[in-house]
Amino acid sequence: MNKITENIFYIPASTNPLSSDVVFIKTENSTWIFDVGTSVESMNEINEIKGTKNIVLSHFHLDHIANIHKVNFDNLFVSANTKRYTSKGTIVKSKIVFENEQIEILEVPSSHAKGCLCLVFADYAFMGDSTYCKEVIGNHTYNVQLLKAEIDFLESLNCKYVCLSHDIHFVQSREKLIELHKSIYERRKATEPTISVEDFFNPDGSVKIIA
Ligand SMILES: [Zn+2]
Repeated sequence: MNKITENIFYIPASTNPLSSDVVFIKTENSTWIFDVGTSVESMNEINEIKGTKNIVLSHFHLDHIANIHKVNFDNLFVSANTKRYTSKGTIVKSKIVFENEQIEILEVPSSHAKGCLCLVFADYAFMGDSTYCKEVIGNHTYNVQLLKAEIDFLESLNCKYVCLSHDIHFVQSREKLIELHKSIYERRKATEPTISVEDFFNPDGSVKIIA
């Protein structure tokens, strides 16, 4: 378990088993959990928490949600797309604010997957995979319109940090991510609905370190 602040912790993502980062936020009244992963460690950690448990799932990809049928919780928040896979949970259609808890749940425009949710707590926005490109058989692209909407979304946030699932640098600067995504957006061509980001990836599929 890694610590970000006094009340934010996470289990880092793993590749074997393929499992997303799992975030734990301790508020005054409850624990908020962002994504549940697939690992036994994450499952046990979630089940051992005492008190009220609220779970938010970032999107429907299995590495983020598979444990949902093996953990207990009080409240679950999902997008309509994710509910097709979980068959349970409250669907988040527009921004939900839990003022006493400093928690907000919002829908994020995303090239990566339909129905992505983001959780904001204090100075941190937990993004899941929503800021990533779409990958189809080794072909990496952003949708131009969705990328623009995603940049606007990131600019509308007030927090200093974004947390990106699977990235070895889980906590990143929101401003820097916006800069990077603006530089990708600059590559758009009037006649093409997508932007290729093939050159961001090494031959083994890992993301190149961009200085
Ligand atoms: Zn994903």
